[in-house]
Amino acid sequence: MTKSVFILAGDGIGPEIIAEARRVLDYVIATTGEVITVTDGLVGGASYDVHGEPLTDATLDQAIAANAVLFGAIGGPKWDGKTDYDKRPEQGLLNLRQGLNAFANLRSAVCFPAMADASSLKREFIEGLDILFVRELMGGVYFGQPRGIDTLADGSRVGYNTQRYTDWEIERVARVAFEMARKRDNRVTSVEKANVMESGVLWREVVTALQASDYPDVALDHMYADNCAMQLVKQPKQFDVILTDNLFGDLLSDAAAMLTGSLGMLPSASLSGDGPGLYEPIHGSAPDIAGKGIANPIATVLSLAMAFRYSLGMKDMAERIENAVSTVLKNGIRTGDIMDEGCTKVNTRGMGDAILAELEKN
Ligand code: NAD
Repeated sequence: MTKSVFILAGDGIGPEIIAEARRVLDYVIATTGEVITVTDGLVGGASYDVHGEPLTDATLDQAIAANAVLFGAIGGPKWDGKTDYDKRPEQGLLNLRQGLNAFANLRSAVCFPAMADASSLKREFIEGLDILFVRELMGGVYFGQPRGIDTLADGSRVGYNTQRYTDWEIERVARVAFEMARKRDNRVTSVEKANVMESGVLWREVVTALQASDYPDVALDHMYADNCAMQLVKQPKQFDVILTDNLFGDLLSDAAAMLTGSLGMLPSASLSGDGPGLYEPIHGSAPDIAGKGIANPIATVLSLAMAFRYSLGMKDMAERIENAVSTVLKNGIRTGDIMDEGCTKVNTRGMGDAILAELEKN
């Protein structure tokens, strides 16, 4: 069966890091006999410059028609404050997520053994860390209505947003978390603030009922978001899958990301029920180093690995890529952002070469 990957490299370091993931993808196509069609499109500032839009309808249609969308990064000073607000490059990514109905954001916080000393925590707390965040991405306070900034009768101004979740929005993302847990250590920690928020009360009720009816084999516990923040820096290895909403997931997954070292290492996936998955590094377009060829491509290569696992039905290939990255790190090959004493410093291309060389050995 033909599979398809749609690549949106974007801006800044996007094209540089995507080029290395593309080499890995080409290697897989050339060596496995899998038929995977690969096409490219424009997004973000790159699309704005050509079309006056950060994401055109035609590009979104191409993304919807693919099995997986591999995304680099968008934005940069060239466009900051120079476009209408709804045409800024970052809007391209928001529109893409919305257009793909990508409601479940998966971010793993994995600590490669060779990187344990780069963490702000002691090695024993972090070595072997493997958390998967499943964050609701299409609802909650970032999208809830009413929202706005109003002027009251007494002349004072009020800014407000609405945290709002329907039961079906909670259930569909909880289902993803339980399914993921079954492929891992079979444990889900559901995180909200049911102690002070009604949306949290409903969240807890829906997740509890779904576990009882459909996933009795998966262990479920509940944790308040503030406690979860503390536990992440105290005993992060206690977690397997963390299920949470859009706002708490944004904060908690960033905190967990930094436990593992560099931004340049961390992949993510955004999944809808049956449509294509969107795969992207968690970092931005890094304008400070763009064009220098020194960006770390690992997060993008690992995003491609997630695409093999979740959208292309090639779990073994995902593992091979992840193992190749782990070995490269163990061998002391480093880009500048993760450089350490006694290691060998390489540029973006050099990291791609090292990962490909490891893949060829296995
Ligand atoms: P950033 O993630 O781009 O950069 C933060 C710091 O991390 C910089 O010093 C950068 O050099 C470094 N860094 C990031 N990725 C790296 C990599 N792969 N290798 C080595 N170093 C890396 O965040 P920022 O500086 O806040 O934002 C820059 C631009 O990116 C802005 O326009 C912002 O809107 C955009 N942005 C885009 C996305 C996205 O495309 N998903 C996400 C966040 C920010």
